Amino acid sequence: VIKKEGSCVFDLFGSLSSTMGVDLGTANTLIYTKENGIIVREPSLVARHKKTGRILAVGSEAKQMEGRTPDFLETLHPLRDGVIADFDVTAAMLRIFLKKALRGRKFVQPTLVVSVPCGVTAVERRAVIDAATQAGARDAYLIEEPLAAALGADMPVREAAGNMVVDLGGGTTEVAVISMGKIVLSRTLRLGGDALDESLVQYIRRQYNLMISPAMAERMKMEIGSLAESTQPQAMEIRGRDLLTGLPKPLAINQNQLLPALYEPLREIIDVVKTTLEMTPPELASDIMDRGIVLTGGGALLRNLDRVMARDTGMPVRIAPDAPLCVVLGTGRAARNFNSFRRKNHPAKSHK
Ligand code: ADP
Ligand code: MG
Repeated sequence: VIKKEGSCVFDLFGSLSSTMGVDLGTANTLIYTKENGIIVREPSLVARHKKTGRILAVGSEAKQMEGRTPDFLETLHPLRDGVIADFDVTAAMLRIFLKKALRGRKFVQPTLVVSVPCGVTAVERRAVIDAATQAGARDAYLIEEPLAAALGADMPVREAAGNMVVDLGGGTTEVAVISMGKIVLSRTLRLGGDALDESLVQYIRRQYNLMISPAMAERMKMEIGSLAESTQPQAMEIRGRDLLTGLPKPLAINQNQLLPALYEPLREIIDVVKTTLEMTPPELASDIMDRGIVLTGGGALLRNLDRVMARDTGMPVRIAPDAPLCVVLGTGRAARNFNSFRRKNHPAKSHK
């Protein structure tokens, strides 16, 4: 399940160390510990001083500041497209989150199980391990994200049968077929929830000459976004800048108006699901037909996405319970079984 990449030191102070599961996502970082369950769930965001580079806030605190910073401050997303874009900032952010997860246990150096997208390069994987150790971890092991998602969604991944999981994140979508605990086939798309927000920004600008922020678009997507027409559509008031007068302006918008703008980027995602199904060996595809495609990640919460994907692919589709938590729950599960895993897979290493 887990790829060994870092150096493994015999755990002489085993009683002092703990193993944690980490979902280092483009949009959100989550940490799972055996003792406390999901103990960190924060946006992967950092606010820092432009000149000195000093970090002033991370996570939700930084999100509060986004779009509201004075000149000398900036907020930045240290991860992009599922991989580390800014190494030092990622490590600094992770250090703060780990400290929070450790709850003041100062001398503990945790071992981490971190999820990474399928198909990332060896350099990108190495960067995750190095960032983890720079952040204060003793060691880091990697698990492929779709595998973690499927484990967290309680799919029977160890059986000799086809399981398809689609994880919809902020910057990426991963489609994978899993059988006997291994990924048989996978595709990573550099397109996720952010693209939906962007599509809404463009649409509102074209239709209403109103410039809204991506954050406003995201709120609109979460509150009223849906992929099905409704006879009694939900509405909300959004705010932006009128491109004709340059002044702030409110606008009432309803869910039906957003549908085309949401569907457009999603069609691309659904096309990738279709091509992945076409490449799936027939026996496994038949299992998926029986069991259905499982959706995980924050993007799975978009209303009626399951229905539209089922319509377009002809396969049953279901949303995993706690979809945004599946990946971290899966890394947590791998972390809990970590010691038996290590004994089974690296017996020589534990005697060095
Ligand atoms: P990542 O793995 O990239 O960190 P997440 O799995 O946390 O991402 O998902 C984040 C994405 O999910 C964002 O694009 C966010 O807008 C989207 N999202 C979260 N909740 C909802 C919702 N209720 N409806 C639609 N999209 C949502
Ligand atoms: Mg994710």
